Amino acid sequence: MAGKKLVLMVVDGMTPAAFERAVDSGRAPALAFLAQHGTYRQAVSVFPSLTPVCLSSIVTGAGPDVHLIPHLVWWHREQKRIVEYGSSFSALRVAGMAQSITDTIYNMNQRHLGAGAVTVYEALEDKGFVTAAVNITCYRGRTPYRPTVPGMTRLAYGPKRFFYYGLFESDATGAPFAMRNRAAGSVDLYAAAVGRWLVTRDGFDFLAYYLSDYDYASHVHGPEGAEDVALERIDSAIQMLFDAAGGGDAFLERYAVILHSDHGQTDVTQSARLEVPLTAFADDVVVTASNRAGQVYLLPHARVDAARLAAQLDSEPSVETSLRLEGDEAVARREGEELRFRPARTGWETSGDAAILDQPDALHRTWSALANPNAGELLVAAAEGWEFADIGGRDHAGGGSHGSLGAGDSFVPLVTVGVDAAPARITEIAPAVLAHFGVEPPPYATAVLTNVA
Ligand SMILES: [Zn+2]
Repeated sequence: MAGKKLVLMVVDGMTPAAFERAVDSGRAPALAFLAQHGTYRQAVSVFPSLTPVCLSSIVTGAGPDVHLIPHLVWWHREQKRIVEYGSSFSALRVAGMAQSITDTIYNMNQRHLGAGAVTVYEALEDKGFVTAAVNITCYRGRTPYRPTVPGMTRLAYGPKRFFYYGLFESDATGAPFAMRNRAAGSVDLYAAAVGRWLVTRDGFDFLAYYLSDYDYASHVHGPEGAEDVALERIDSAIQMLFDAAGGGDAFLERYAVILHSDHGQTDVTQSARLEVPLTAFADDVVVTASNRAGQVYLLPHARVDAARLAAQLDSEPSVETSLRLEGDEAVARREGEELRFRPARTGWETSGDAAILDQPDALHRTWSALANPNAGELLVAAAEGWEFADIGGRDHAGGGSHGSLGAGDSFVPLVTVGVDAAPARITEIAPAVLAHFGVEPPPYATAVLTNVA
């Protein structure tokens, strides 16, 4: 290996605007240090721009069509049940607490994450590198771990250094884990304590360092209010890694860095239940919605098709765009107008109103979302300012949310330090990591390095 080791820092839910303000204001010296020494750009998330979908794309370099995680909440057609990864406590209760916890902790990685997708941990460890993951929910690796909780016996398979909310730990670090003080940043404090331990020992070639509390604060306080609550905590969680190496300069002598977010956030003021405009078809469909994206699944006996459902949403104020497949084409619909598109040898073949999909990288992202066999027959992106209530009836109205195709939900800040590649999409991060270590990316990841429209 020629290059340095690499640390991937993921700040969940931080917008480019928040990152830029943080750097310019002097309130976040660690972030500013990275920006000063690296290259800053914006990159585009996937659709739906929801954390399980995004983190799976970041770690595998695949879109949802390959990694198969469709949403935060989805209908498992084979098992005829809802999979809910944690929209809210109420949603977990409605979906079944034990099942939801199992889905989130184990099944997302062991059963739901596509077998055709390769995680950076798998790809790098197969070439003899040591990889580490702290709290990141896409963790699939080849080393078995028994839970730290007495009575739980099912094994999880993670990278060689693996730390997951205190539940799976490859090493005894002494880091304290407390979910109860989440609002005060306790989850990231655990991540930082583990990160410090790992950097002190230089115990990895690649580290995925995931900070989740910023998104949590942004849901409650909105994307701007989050700065007052969580920015300094994020910054100190990164500073702790620097300090463990003997300061920022010493840290960058040892490690290349990719710092980024998984999705943005926008203010939401109103919430709607996506089931309501579809009430007439209640026996024909399953609706799964959460944050700013929804899906409608047609049951096998349904006497309605996705086109009819899309038309039904024309006058629904919470809906911006719906998407469906018809034959070998995708159809985007917005207020009764349609755009048909499909991939062509160079770019896209389209007919209809192109303005319907004028959101960032929208053709590429929606095509990938629709090609996911676990996705609903109709995908729905929320209109600006709107959120869809989850199955527990919860929403973030008055705060922040994400999930739609819109720029605010979709653009993320991205800083590279000591990395040659210039990822323009979050799906280009894993290939950039692999290239840094001289490891060939999986075949699905080599075809996507096209311009972001
Ligand atoms: Zn979120």
